Amino acid sequence: MKEKPSLEHSERAVIEAAQERKLGEMLREVLAHNPFYRQKRRGISWSKGDSSLDYLAKVPLTTKAEFVSDQSQHPPYGTNLTYRLERYRRLHQTSGTTGRPLCWLDDEASWDTWMECWQAVYRGAGVQAGDRVFVAFSFGPFIGFWTAFEAAQRMGCLAISGGGQTSQQRIANLRDHSATVLVCTPTYALRLAEEGLAMGVDPRQLGIRTGIHAGEPGASIPATRQRIQEAWGAEPFDHVGMTEVGAVGFDCEAHNGVHLNEEHFIFEILDRETGSVRSGDGRGELVVTNLGRWGMPAIRLRTGDVVDLDRSPCPCGRTFARIKGGILGRVDDMIIVRGVNVYPSAIENIVRERPEVLEFAISVESQRQMRELKLMIELSDGAPADTCESLQKALQLRLNLRTSIEVVPRGTLPRGEFKTKRIVDAGSFPTRP
Ligand SMILES: [Zn+2]
Repeated sequence: MKEKPSLEHSERAVIEAAQERKLGEMLREVLAHNPFYRQKRRGISWSKGDSSLDYLAKVPLTTKAEFVSDQSQHPPYGTNLTYRLERYRRLHQTSGTTGRPLCWLDDEASWDTWMECWQAVYRGAGVQAGDRVFVAFSFGPFIGFWTAFEAAQRMGCLAISGGGQTSQQRIANLRDHSATVLVCTPTYALRLAEEGLAMGVDPRQLGIRTGIHAGEPGASIPATRQRIQEAWGAEPFDHVGMTEVGAVGFDCEAHNGVHLNEEHFIFEILDRETGSVRSGDGRGELVVTNLGRWGMPAIRLRTGDVVDLDRSPCPCGRTFARIKGGILGRVDDMIIVRGVNVYPSAIENIVRERPEVLEFAISVESQRQMRELKLMIELSDGAPADTCESLQKALQLRLNLRTSIEVVPRGTLPRGEFKTKRIVDAGSFPTRP
């Protein structure tokens, strides 16, 4: 597929005019045929003289829970369907760790939009035709990196599947096929490097130039980013994507926050305290409307992700907005301990500065009405004896957090291929005897 020119360097007025036009076209189609959104806009009129953006501001926000409930009431796909089922080409599902998985259908045009968004991710990371892109992903029903795989091929790259393989097999594959780009979660990039070293292969010698990491915010967390870079000798790029909306964000060579793809989405910020939604800069929950996924759209979807939006110019020359530091955390993941509010990513940044800590997990326990934060860590051989003590001091000094730290046996903490669970129930892991 020939690449279409992108708006990523266009002036804001051009971007906004394109958003308004695309939104108008999308709303006309969706509101005419999609039962879910017809119901949501009930009682809201499109006044004469209102632009599509004016109208959008009147449509109530959508939550993921509404999609889940709609699909359980109208199984299996719910009512957020703009077309007849015959028109859809791809079916994916969320992981469903907290109940029924959410199904998501894409028609051909929606899938093409995904591909365009992923090409922006690859362009930002300097990936070019001729690159060999290895995708370390299971290729199950979860949409995950399916889109990365197919977009690589459309970019003129060699797309190499890492599905159905052990970590050792993946290391061998990276070597045998001279991969130049590695696509996986940040946690898995570190685990794969560990596995490589254990089999006597130095990941730095494999020739990987670029890493694209999604599913968790790690590649935007300075200490994690540095560890991936050192482990692979490759430049890590963050990417933000979600099943229900698409590939919304990409990193650039300036690593100055994650750019939001304003060509294919409209982004707003919800202030959870006041309930107000704004289109300007600042911190809050990210609200997304996709413009090119008409078959099963998300209009003003509350993502649950906390971000800090910034529209100041980026040194790379792109004019799309950025989220500083990537996704700062999930709304639900904010930990409040003794009056201190903290997201797991802030803790991760401090923990990952210590190479002797191989993996970590966080648990919050209530003791005598007080919430206590506990960290479980895995240590490398020969870790300094005072690791726990010095980590405790750093957390106290930099985050004002009082923690207890427990060393657990190697290999007991989760290191998933996708969305590693970092806040855990402390009772679920064996501790050192
Ligand atoms: Zn940039």
